[in-house]
Amino acid sequence: MRSVQADSAATRGVNEWDEIAWPIVYLRVRRLQTRIAKATREQDWRRVKALQRFLVNSFSAKVLAVKRVSENDGKRTPGVDGEIWSTPEAKWQAIQRLGSRGLRPQPLRRVYIPKRGSDKMRPLGIPAMIIRAQQALHLQGLEPVAETRADPHSYGFRRSRGTQDAIARVFNLLARKVSAPWIFEGDIKGCFDNFEHGWIEDHVPMNRKVLRDWLKAGYVESGKLFPTEAGTPQGGIASPTIANIALDGLEMVLTERFGSTATSTKRLRVRLVRYADDFIITGSSKELLEVEVKPCVEAFLAERGLQLSQEKTRITHISEGFDFLGQNVRKYDGKLLIKPSAKNIKAFLDSVRETIRVNRSSKQETLIDLLNPMIRGWANYHRHVVAKKTYAAVDHHIWRALWRWARRRHPNKLPEWVRQKYFRTQGQRHWVFATQTRGYTGEPRMLALIAASDTRIVRHVRVKSDANPFDPAWDSYFEQRKGARMLERLQARGFPKRLWQQQHGKCPGCGQLIDEDDRWVVQPAVPFKAGGTRSLTNLKLLHSTCRRSFRIARGNTPVCDDRVPAP
Ligand SMILES: [Zn+2]
Repeated sequence: MRSVQADSAATRGVNEWDEIAWPIVYLRVRRLQTRIAKATREQDWRRVKALQRFLVNSFSAKVLAVKRVSENDGKRTPGVDGEIWSTPEAKWQAIQRLGSRGLRPQPLRRVYIPKRGSDKMRPLGIPAMIIRAQQALHLQGLEPVAETRADPHSYGFRRSRGTQDAIARVFNLLARKVSAPWIFEGDIKGCFDNFEHGWIEDHVPMNRKVLRDWLKAGYVESGKLFPTEAGTPQGGIASPTIANIALDGLEMVLTERFGSTATSTKRLRVRLVRYADDFIITGSSKELLEVEVKPCVEAFLAERGLQLSQEKTRITHISEGFDFLGQNVRKYDGKLLIKPSAKNIKAFLDSVRETIRVNRSSKQETLIDLLNPMIRGWANYHRHVVAKKTYAAVDHHIWRALWRWARRRHPNKLPEWVRQKYFRTQGQRHWVFATQTRGYTGEPRMLALIAASDTRIVRHVRVKSDANPFDPAWDSYFEQRKGARMLERLQARGFPKRLWQQQHGKCPGCGQLIDEDDRWVVQPAVPFKAGGTRSLTNLKLLHSTCRRSFRIARGNTPVCDDRVPAP
């Protein structure tokens, strides 16, 4: 409550969460982040600090932080204080609390979640909502610095880069005849749990006190408080970025040590590809990786309180192949092929079977709606590699599970009856798991289970290694890249694709690009009840989290105002 007076002068006309003008908010934060990135490039640390301080005190950054944590997947999971922010009032109050100086540190609530593919449990720390929002707030100031100083070939937990870029880099490094034949597979022992606090406090450029409070927060289990002496809390929004900052620099160390001149690099071929704490290093010989590269990596990690896991760290020849990010990389008679890894396929099929099992008495429509995003997501993940055969095999396994599901529902019916009830013929394909429903415009539509094997295999264009999403010089590069990927993703979906193009890819709720990682909805501008039509002119494509603000924003023109320091 305390700071609402102070802030209200700066937020003329806005008294409620639902009145916030999101496009303006995004623009303001973006401008400040751009300036932080510029100051970072110029190594003007005093300016970085001043701009960061200004950003975290701004109304716009606070609302974005609250929006982020109250709309993401964890929004219904409370921390130690039991709080969740589900109403506009709760969110509005949160903005004011974020502004207050006396925000107390709070320990994390420890929960255990099942480890994927085993019956072991994995501990996870859940911060309180207000602490999550505080992290999201400060992260907005930290990210431009982290992005600007990041290793060129680090791909995890970064804006506008992902696993596909990492895999494409691996392919470039290993595919040719003269490519390095040996691979060092690095595995850091409990990376997130072991970072040395002193090192992080000295090297992560952000508010010292806030950082210290996060690191030392401790956790609560069965009512008892346990302190944390090392590591960055897993489950924290800022933790991946902090971990990235800590591991950045390894690429530089390797380049300096193993030759920056073209000739010697060519000889030793020491190159790093990193995705969060998962990394590989290529090399021209096993001895080189074992005797020289490994100690070099170990020394780098030791400084940060980290160690390599002796069991999991391996040096492999490319003809044996290795798994990286859910895919298997291997040369067969000199030809490099990247395929979905056996472990990844098993984990995916396990989760599909589990979904089918849990929904043994659900409607067919419900089951299809649950399975389609899973199949689409998994197939899309592998659409840049050699996956055609795997797709077909996976489709067959899913079909078998669904056939059992259908038969079990009607033990007294003949198989032919069951087939006619749940499966149809579509074009060339028989046995399509499908049912009748309604489409976006109310027309009768056949809802069918998608087949992984319908996914087109396309080449992935790797992100340029020096592209910086906080540098306006790269804006059009990223916009074009994201747009092309989104269009490709919408390929098979006529209606949403036309809406997306009509809106130039932008969401009318927040003014930001709707890209392939976003969840979206189609919503009428004029409600159907009020006479709105189901036409392209009345329907809008929105981020699913922007539905509400879009509804409110129509009909009133809200203002929100931040003071921005002179450039
Ligand atoms: Zn939006």
